[in-house]
Amino acid sequence: MPSVLIIGAGGVGQVVAHKCAQAPEVFERICLASRTLEKCDRIASQLPRPIQTAQVDADNVPELVDLIRSVKADLVLHVALPYQDLHIMDACLETGVHYLDTANYEPLDEARFCYQWQWDYHERFKDRGIMALLGSGFDPGVTNVFCAWAKKMHFDEIRELDIIDCNAGDHGQPFATNFNPEINIREVTAQGRYYENEQWVKTDPLSISKEFDFPEGIGPKKIYLMYHEELESLTRHMPDIQRARFWMTFSDNYLKHLEVLGNVGMTRIDPVEYEGRQIVPLQFLKALLPDPGSLGPLTHGRTCIGCLIKGIKDGKEKEYYIYNICNHEEAYAEVGSQAISYTTGVPAMIGAMMILTKQWHGTGVFNMEEFDPAPFMEKLNQYGLPWTEITR
Ligand code: NDP
Repeated sequence: MPSVLIIGAGGVGQVVAHKCAQAPEVFERICLASRTLEKCDRIASQLPRPIQTAQVDADNVPELVDLIRSVKADLVLHVALPYQDLHIMDACLETGVHYLDTANYEPLDEARFCYQWQWDYHERFKDRGIMALLGSGFDPGVTNVFCAWAKKMHFDEIRELDIIDCNAGDHGQPFATNFNPEINIREVTAQGRYYENEQWVKTDPLSISKEFDFPEGIGPKKIYLMYHEELESLTRHMPDIQRARFWMTFSDNYLKHLEVLGNVGMTRIDPVEYEGRQIVPLQFLKALLPDPGSLGPLTHGRTCIGCLIKGIKDGKEKEYYIYNICNHEEAYAEVGSQAISYTTGVPAMIGAMMILTKQWHGTGVFNMEEFDPAPFMEKLNQYGLPWTEITR
């Protein structure tokens, strides 16, 4: 009786719980645990079949170990926050249970996006005979699988990769983030970085932009160069890549708010003294901003996330674009969350499915591009994230 323990009952946890419940042949038993039990119970009450719920502090390893043992989990599907990655990996090592997440570890006091902390667990996971699958969301996640698919089906050599993430949706709020505000703002305000000729080139935050014409009527939008974690694993596992960049769309309104908040110090992650106590401005800002989960019923429009790849096939130059379009309102109608949570939660469920059905297997710590992309690509079509290819 395969058993999955989902940790985190936010926007993404909501989608993962719904999607796992839709596949009882794989996820026979489900437990949803998070810091706030009521959030787990609220999600559980929406599902078509009963699941267990629990309260857990995922920064407390002994508490996690007890929970994993009590629910007899085969896999921990972690969709809480990146700060918990290493604690949950420690608990998986102690209990001998597989691990999956959607975002790389970040220390709380430093916005440093780096896989090395988690890659350092490889030998320990290997010795324990268990597997960790890192970054099984959309980006990272599906974008890594798209690259593996491109390499398998379309290219002898991939030379240039541009990952392009567009949210063409609108929630009608003056300023809100589509996923956890603290994580989102840390990511967006970080220094940009891209890979070229075996070197990392640093750029000021959001200082490089251009226009990209998105397909299926979304049309031209301004995209901004950012650093994103999948660049680190893809350039390591696909060494023929000569240039890799990540781009994201932002509205002028979002950028104006962010600039003002940054100028007045509200995006700082170091503690400041306020009325005799220490507060972190970004954490205080998070408390003021709309909960991304509340944006579901308000958001309309579509997302378009994909990979534009240039390389060589049979001695000739080739350009290839693969993307998914996801509709916010359709996502909300199906699982009660907008498309950002949906595009993250569906691949998290599929990654867990790959492990529990042993279509992806191994011992150690892995990124998504290290496995055969074919079964994952098939499940994307089946579970609500169909993809389209354009070859030039
Ligand atoms: P939310 O903030 O909506 O949800 C996070 C959940 O984790 C909340 O339920 C929160 O509990 C819970 N949590 C936080 N700390 C703890 C803790 N110490 N112990 C137990 N539970 C805890 O975030 P999202 O759902 O939007 O995002 C979830 C993850 O998905 C993030 O890591 C994010 O970076 C990642 N992500 C990945 C993407 C990808 O494409 N790869 C895209 C978008 C997101 P409480 O409700 O009590 O605060």
